[in-house]
Amino acid sequence: MVEIIDTHSHLYGEEFLEDIEAVIQRCKDVGVSQILLPNIDLESVDKMHVLCEAYPDICLPMMGLHPCSVDANYKETLNVLYDNFQRRDYCGIGEIGMDLFWDVTTQDWQEDAFLTQIEWAIEKNLGVSIHSRNATQRVIELLKPYKGKLTGVFHCFTESLELAQEIIKLDFYLGIGGVSTFKKAGVVSVIQELGLERLVLETDSPYLAPTPFRGKRNESSYTAIIGKFIADSLVVSLDKVAEVTTLNARHIYKINEPKAKVTV
Ligand SMILES: [Zn+2]
Repeated sequence: MVEIIDTHSHLYGEEFLEDIEAVIQRCKDVGVSQILLPNIDLESVDKMHVLCEAYPDICLPMMGLHPCSVDANYKETLNVLYDNFQRRDYCGIGEIGMDLFWDVTTQDWQEDAFLTQIEWAIEKNLGVSIHSRNATQRVIELLKPYKGKLTGVFHCFTESLELAQEIIKLDFYLGIGGVSTFKKAGVVSVIQELGLERLVLETDSPYLAPTPFRGKRNESSYTAIIGKFIADSLVVSLDKVAEVTTLNARHIYKINEPKAKVTV
């Protein structure tokens, strides 16, 4: 049985309220042993914690403020989010980063919030899950001074080989999700050039479901579809993809193997 980690999923969203048990069971059925949950904003924190308490061996929370949720109150919001570290452990800082697709007017705030949370990651010795849209070159520039001090994932990576190589030089990894399976997705050639060494699997559920579920609700069990797609693109086995990406995820987020072996 392969063992897969979904390194980026929002299974605590209301899209899953009705059938979360079945969703988790389908994960177990295909070998998804752990699901990492990046936070979004103040509102998502409790929902995320509730899910992690219901499935503590499978669901692991991260703490962070999404760049699209950075507004005029971001400093206060960051203080409230940071208080959560007093109460529980997190496997990473996320999701953090920059999004200049939806809003360029908040760029300065986004950069400041990002750097504050990079400091959290260094202080807590945690990996980061980075959201970067229309901003990857800038995010890379912001990370350069921290080279050697932290690692993490550029989640939902869909960019060029050149940017991928810059990211790897910073000792970061590429999160490969459903977008890679879309027709005409250029990231396949990047994967073929780079190989498995720097990849992790993710879904970003409920968004960005892979082919053949494109446009529908995404769920963490689909990491197996993404893994199989990568395996076929590289002409290796799914076992190999699962093995390398799972080891990478454990390294980045310093997570142990689940206490209970997953049983089908
Ligand atoms: Zn996300």
